[in-house]
Amino acid sequence: MLEEMIPGPELVIACPACRALHRYDSLRSGNTFGAWRWTDGRVVSPMLPDRPSITRCHQCGGFFWVYRAEEVGSIENAPLDKSVYEVLLEQVGARRVEVMARLREHSKQGLAEVKALLARTPVVAARNLSEHEAQRLVLSLQEVGASASLRRQVSDAEGTFVETPPEWMAAPYVTHLTEQELLAALAAGVAESWEEASYLRIQAWWASNEPFRQQDVPWVPWAERAPEARENLRALADRLPVEDPFDLLMKAEAFRELERFEEAIALLRTRLPEDFARTAGFLRELAEQRIAELRLLPSTERREPERSP
Ligand SMILES: [Zn+2]
Repeated sequence: MLEEMIPGPELVIACPACRALHRYDSLRSGNTFGAWRWTDGRVVSPMLPDRPSITRCHQCGGFFWVYRAEEVGSIENAPLDKSVYEVLLEQVGARRVEVMARLREHSKQGLAEVKALLARTPVVAARNLSEHEAQRLVLSLQEVGASASLRRQVSDAEGTFVETPPEWMAAPYVTHLTEQELLAALAAGVAESWEEASYLRIQAWWASNEPFRQQDVPWVPWAERAPEARENLRALADRLPVEDPFDLLMKAEAFRELERFEEAIALLRTRLPEDFARTAGFLRELAEQRIAELRLLPSTERREPERSP
């Protein structure tokens, strides 16, 4: 059974440097039902879309924090009972052919049309779907390595747009930064606090691990990854505090992935509240076996997108 995700209003925000408009769909509530949870702390949930906190301006190319940007206005959503959904395809990933096949299967479009669509990412890949159809398509695309999310269309069931300034409607959505952009933003000094710096470092870590969330993609040790990616994880591992159990687990996981097993094990001996202790035990077992690979947490099962009863 899938529980409901309640989107908030769509916000229209301005780039602090050049005032170009961007759209941002806020979320009133969501949940992590059916989520995939990974040892590196990343949670992939169809019911809790991952909204970027930082983005890059589509006009001037500058980085800016979404929550600090000036809100120019908000676009009201259609009433809930008339909701239709669209699926945003953000990144195609390495398995392009499979992504195309899934899109074609869904839309019955020709090869040329789907190819043209993929060339324009981030792009709306499907529109006017029920919430369930949209979720299925998102899961199906995520399964073959694409980055996709669903969102409620700002129109009623008849496709009539609620009245808003056309330049608001034309504004592109904020998008996630790539691993290189996250590290560039960090180097450019956009982080004004530890929280912002650690957000950038953790996002870059997760982005570097992204390929290995696919089945059958062999793990590449951190020693063999790009020096700046490795340096980022090292800096994070050394700087994460241990006072908070979540930070402590992230720190231990960073050590484990970096093959600094003894440091991971020492941290994971800390007494933790029950929820965290289970994860700590799992990480410790891996560290003791000298396993550095990213893993799904044992409470998580891989699942196929399927119809809920
Ligand atoms: Zn700008």
